[in-house]
Amino acid sequence: MNRQVTMIQLLELICIRHMRRIPLIAGNWKMYKTTPEAKEFIVALSDATASTQRRIFLAAPFTAIEGAVEAAKGTKISIGGQNMHDQLEGAYTGEISARMLKANGASFVILGHSERRQYFGETNALIHRKLLLALKEELTPILCIGELAHERESGDYLKILNLQLKECLQSLNAAQVSQVIIAYEPVWAIGTGKTATPEIAQAIHRFIRNWIEESHGIDCAEQVCLIYGGSVKPDGIASLMQQTDIDGVLVGGASLEVKSFAQIVNY
Ligand code: PEP
Repeated sequence: MNRQVTMIQLLELICIRHMRRIPLIAGNWKMYKTTPEAKEFIVALSDATASTQRRIFLAAPFTAIEGAVEAAKGTKISIGGQNMHDQLEGAYTGEISARMLKANGASFVILGHSERRQYFGETNALIHRKLLLALKEELTPILCIGELAHERESGDYLKILNLQLKECLQSLNAAQVSQVIIAYEPVWAIGTGKTATPEIAQAIHRFIRNWIEESHGIDCAEQVCLIYGGSVKPDGIASLMQQTDIDGVLVGGASLEVKSFAQIVNY
């Protein structure tokens, strides 16, 4: 009897923990959309997703953040940035700081996107510094990790992911890690139309959750929101979201049109 009660309590605990991870659908607009385009998109998206219980994030270009925040007021849509500098201010021509994002109403920021790593030489050490600053400034970080095509083919991908997690999350305590959203974005799947199968995506999300459990404990691992990114389209979303450890998605190309993004939100 006692044993039965314990099992029921355990199941309730698992459900409560799982429920805390509200599904998250995040769009990354990259270098697309002016302020008027962003506003028009948000009004239409808000109408098309009025009944959703899911969290919706849109990472807008810096110039459109303020207008997007204004358009998203009173909706379920949160607006964030796609990058930030690792210092709060200074002589860094062309850069944007966490404080500026916050002042314009951003609530989250993408850090370590593979396009930043590949085209702008961002390293795990730099991303780690940005992560600490984002947390300090109360911006929710979406930390992107993922392996290149040849790293998957050679079988080295778990080593790469382990290194990215270790170097980006070093020195963060459990309370900090539980606030980080981790996006697994295999680089071979980004913008290529080659989505990871739900089984591959689930296996890596499980690997990440296990990694966090080992480094920061089970509570932290159960709380942390893990999302998948890489050519997510309306027809593949349901099978990805059915996976136990996938709490949401980060969407590039398909977040640019209201129709496809609303279909992903309403899957
Ligand atoms: C991305 O840029 O984070 C992304 C996942 O892009 P896409 O959906 O176009 O592959």
